[in-house]
Amino acid sequence: MKQYQLESALLPQGWARECTVTVADDGIITHVDGGGGATTLGSTLTSDMAVASDIAPASDNARAPDLKNSASTLSVERVKGIAIPGMPNAHSHAFQRAMVGNTEYRLSARDSFWTWRQAMYQLANRIEPEELQILATQLFVEMLKAGYTSVAEFHYLHRQKNGALYPGTNGLWEAIDNAAEIAGIGLTFLPTLYQTSDFGGKPLKREQARFAMATDVFLRAIEERLAHQHSQSSTRTGAAFHSLRAVPLDHLREAALQLRGLNAALPVHIHVAEQLREVKSCKQETGRRPIELLLESGLLTPHWCLVHATHATPQELKGIAAAAAIVCVSISTEANLGDGFFDTSRFLKAGGCLCVGSDSQATVSPAEELRWMEYQQRLRKKGRAVLAAAAEPHVGTRLWRDAAQHGAQAIGQPAGAIAVGRRADWLVLDDTHPSMVGATSQTALDHLLFAGADAAIRDVMVAGRWVIRDGRHEVEEQLRGPFAGLMNSFATAG
Ligand SMILES: [Zn+2]
Repeated sequence: MKQYQLESALLPQGWARECTVTVADDGIITHVDGGGGATTLGSTLTSDMAVASDIAPASDNARAPDLKNSASTLSVERVKGIAIPGMPNAHSHAFQRAMVGNTEYRLSARDSFWTWRQAMYQLANRIEPEELQILATQLFVEMLKAGYTSVAEFHYLHRQKNGALYPGTNGLWEAIDNAAEIAGIGLTFLPTLYQTSDFGGKPLKREQARFAMATDVFLRAIEERLAHQHSQSSTRTGAAFHSLRAVPLDHLREAALQLRGLNAALPVHIHVAEQLREVKSCKQETGRRPIELLLESGLLTPHWCLVHATHATPQELKGIAAAAAIVCVSISTEANLGDGFFDTSRFLKAGGCLCVGSDSQATVSPAEELRWMEYQQRLRKKGRAVLAAAAEPHVGTRLWRDAAQHGAQAIGQPAGAIAVGRRADWLVLDDTHPSMVGATSQTALDHLLFAGADAAIRDVMVAGRWVIRDGRHEVEEQLRGPFAGLMNSFATAG
């Protein structure tokens, strides 16, 4: 057990100064003393925190007896700067880290998501487990340095290069598990069902052979992982359906019901309505738009995360919000691939829950995702502070706190807030960094999002362990050579 004296911290109920947080050996916060409330600033408890209270014990003192019993072994660390909740990254494909910066030129007469996807398939078809582990470790270290403290890996690389299943342990899955452990990031691994190349049950193409998975293999693999999941581990398992074009709706429904039988709170993710062509094909084949189909299925719960939902009608946005399902946007990727605008403003007004992800890893920064979430709206509406709320007028605080809460919910991790019952996942901003100088508690996250203060992320903790200290991760030097070798080999392979 350890105690931290945080000089300034963002708690669910607002900003606090000289806040004492006690963390048990399993990395869970057992006690928070927010400075007696006298120095609490800013917003009040939001409706989102009502969801959070399902996880957190009702009283801040609920686990205080542990503290008393262990008082003699308690060490105290004073933390200078501004502590904020770590951000869950709700959507990632780690292997795509190898493509970053390498597809920003004309691939064909009319470049699009679909031509980019061909380049991505080439990479997917050459990658080996050892290579994936190097890429993912490098990426997860980058995520930690940028403020992501856990990640949902939406993983559809299942088979060997020749299309055969791995005998025994799946090397590609193990590579992700190993990378998360080495980096020290929380992981929600999402084995992803992928069965068809388009709507109408079209068979997979040759370049999609490594993604193929039968429903029974998918369900057994998830059951097996859940059986071996330790309650204290920062590694969790969920499930994903690649998309409605890659999983026929009847297969999806059957698998989703079985997953619910395994664990009703299992996170379930799906790509949906990212591209207009996808929406059009879905409508042609089924008479419905993709989000309409999902809403009609009645399967959506607060444990479902719809990734992108870019091309949603106002009615569909209301439907997602009413089902309390979460939407994960990744504006860096959506912009990079030319997907379109997600109507954040309308979705938030409907009471929708949003989180963020780094997806194709075009850039890896939660501050950037949230900055563009606001900037997209400013550009469209020709106004400022569009996503501020009455209860929280500071855009930075509102977006960061809500995305952290909803991200944790989306990936099924007890994180997303500095609160009792949550894991001690937090960042410390250096308030002496030039980008932060002059910030108050209330404007600290506005500086992080809008004044380029990523560089002020000084220390990062996951599950009560410092994984970034003074901006450095302990394995980053070791990784440099293998990562460079790998990237150069991909470059020369063309
Ligand atoms: Zn994706």
